[in-house]
Amino acid sequence: MTTMTASDTLVPFAEATERYEPVIGLETHVELGTRTKMFCGCITTFGAEPNSQVCPVCLGLPGSLPVVNRTAIEYTIRIGLALNCEIASWCRFARKNYFYPDMPKNFQISQYDEPLCTDGYLDVDVNGTTTRVGIERVHLEEDTGKSLHVGGATGRIHGAEYSLVDYNRAGIPLVEIVTKPVAGTGADAPVVARAYVTELRDLLRSLNVSDVRMEEGSLRCDVNTSIAPRGASEWGTRTETKNVNSLRSVERAVHFEIERQAAVLDAGGRVTQETRHFHEDTGTTTAGRSKEEAQDYRYFPEPDLVPVAPPIEWVAQIKAALPEAPAARRARLRAEWGLSEADMTALSNAGALDLVAQTVAEGASPSDARKWWLGELARHANESGIELSALAITPAQVARVAELIEAGSLNDKLARQVIDAVLAGEGDPDDIVEARALGVVSDDGALTAAVDEAIAANPDVVAKIRAGKTQAVGVLVGAVMKATKGQADAARVRELILQRLS
Ligand SMILES: [Zn+2]
Repeated sequence: MTTMTASDTLVPFAEATERYEPVIGLETHVELGTRTKMFCGCITTFGAEPNSQVCPVCLGLPGSLPVVNRTAIEYTIRIGLALNCEIASWCRFARKNYFYPDMPKNFQISQYDEPLCTDGYLDVDVNGTTTRVGIERVHLEEDTGKSLHVGGATGRIHGAEYSLVDYNRAGIPLVEIVTKPVAGTGADAPVVARAYVTELRDLLRSLNVSDVRMEEGSLRCDVNTSIAPRGASEWGTRTETKNVNSLRSVERAVHFEIERQAAVLDAGGRVTQETRHFHEDTGTTTAGRSKEEAQDYRYFPEPDLVPVAPPIEWVAQIKAALPEAPAARRARLRAEWGLSEADMTALSNAGALDLVAQTVAEGASPSDARKWWLGELARHANESGIELSALAITPAQVARVAELIEAGSLNDKLARQVIDAVLAGEGDPDDIVEARALGVVSDDGALTAAVDEAIAANPDVVAKIRAGKTQAVGVLVGAVMKATKGQADAARVRELILQRLS
């Protein structure tokens, strides 16, 4: 037997990719954000009471007939166009026949040999190198329901006492995006896989067709991996790791499969074509069922639906309305903001790109916007263990804080207090400055007393300054800042001290 378990020996990644060339492929399922389901009028809201969003059509009751959701077709065409695909002028749905308890009709309405979109690509940047990932097809199908296995340790059916089925998800429009095999990426294969899913997610988000939340399952990934000895004329046998549910896991799944398959081949074995499960906790995969072939599903054209024939003018209209692609937007913003590629990557990785763009749009300078989102606010988000975008502060409020600093009404220290207060729900920056009397004090009358006190308390420093060591003035400025709890205008304090001592 060549099926391995997690405890088997692996070939270290560097060694494996030195001797073997990986080929990857990704199948991504995206739940569309349509208001209603694919073939009926049921609402699609996530997290509703189980089996509260169902009807005879999505429960597969006798006599019910499906009707295609026009918005789902439009969204799929939008995705296809954004991925540089050909859009079919005529295509049909097909029945994919198999039994699954969470699929009430005992078949899934999908697309088989007549997908809506074919032959496109998505460019992916990794460490300054662009990989063009070919898109084989983009097709439309319906999602299944969800099984919940209760009583087992892992939530899997094995060891469970009983199982429940929720059909709310059954019939939600699902788009499947299948890449062509991606070869020639060598040791970058895991990173390329992750970068592709990241880019695809950002693209889908910009198209406004899905909320693309991996953690809620609206974006799910199956990762195909094979390896072959370097220089071999044929690719190896691939495995399909199912339902990889985070960007990091996509990278780890490919990484692990390369190490595992190299060990199988090194031992003189053959890689089994099969589906595999990814385990988040260990970063390993284990064998699932052996992979079935397309003919096992007995596809045939869906007799209950008319063909889909999107008019050319409609497709042209959808194309004309496509938003700027994320890659083009990043390049444009990078030029406008005068940032390096590394700065831009840091912004993207921190999930701060849109927030910074919105803060700049609200009037802040790009450097101020970056400073606050990547500094103070990133620290707050880290401490609370949440995304930057989940912080209780808006780009407009951040822009206002930057503006108050620019105008000399706040210094950095006071600004941090204002931001803390905004995050604590105390209101807008202006309200907080007023309510807490946090403004910078630059009024000479209010500062003079503190300046005089500092001069009187530090005769030795005064002597140094008078002797020409003007850098010692910092000590006195510090004393005044301390006495005014950081609210004094430091530049004005410095001027006043020098005036007094001249
Ligand atoms: Zn329904």
